[in-house]
Amino acid sequence: MDAPYARLEQLEPGIARVLADNPSAFTYYGTQTYLIGNEELAVVDPGPDLDEHVAALVEAIAGRPVAAICCTHTHRDHSPAARPLAEATGAPIIGCAALALETVGPRADAAFDGDYVADRVLGDGESILVDGKPLTAVATPGHTSNHLCLAYGDALLTGDHVMGWSTTVVVPPDGDMAAYMTSLRKLREREDRVYYPAHGPPVTNPQQYLRGLIGHRMQREKQILRLVGDTARTIPDIVANAYPGLDPRLVTAAGGSVHAHLLDLEARGLVEGREDRWTGT
Ligand SMILES: [Zn+2]
Repeated sequence: MDAPYARLEQLEPGIARVLADNPSAFTYYGTQTYLIGNEELAVVDPGPDLDEHVAALVEAIAGRPVAAICCTHTHRDHSPAARPLAEATGAPIIGCAALALETVGPRADAAFDGDYVADRVLGDGESILVDGKPLTAVATPGHTSNHLCLAYGDALLTGDHVMGWSTTVVVPPDGDMAAYMTSLRKLREREDRVYYPAHGPPVTNPQQYLRGLIGHRMQREKQILRLVGDTARTIPDIVANAYPGLDPRLVTAAGGSVHAHLLDLEARGLVEGREDRWTGT
């Protein structure tokens, strides 16, 4: 894929995309903002508050009514453009809940958007009508506690829950591995035809892809259990053993994911943490 920043691309009838120019080790080429509907629109994951991106969205909307600006979650690469876009279009911000966090500072991947305010929060299974068709929230906590996917027809906008290019970063305290796995299994019960993630290409084989993601996490869990089975280990020690040759930019995120696995294993009585060392039980 080349990087068609600030350009409207129609992916299928009723689903179009504008790519924001915020590439990074965590966002791939950048955040993909989706325009849902034809005569009337919803904007999903408006993205970072970059003047050029907001201007490209306003141009892509082209004066059509906007029923809602929806955010899957409140990381700073997803939600900050909601405010300027709401001002430009008069549309309400409808979707995930705001988070009350002790700190909104930088985490392994992206800081939280502490300024996010929703006009309406969609609970699991709640819908709004966009262009005469329901856009429905599917609560998928894990990557963040407030994460939602949004279903439109048989397409699912997956935000950062399932991405087309990389596994999802799950970092405590807000990220929760047990919740993340439950949310992956929740999608296994659905019959979506295609996933449109906020980063990376569409996923056209959702069930097979989910099986792969769940299998990958279970392998990682087994590997961690093996590593802490014979000797007490710190998280950096586990990362060094479990992720050989890891891109140095991803070491902090990998440590967060290992921490998330350890907390999940601890809750299940399989490991114990003392000071900063972890052992099997
Ligand atoms: Zn995110």
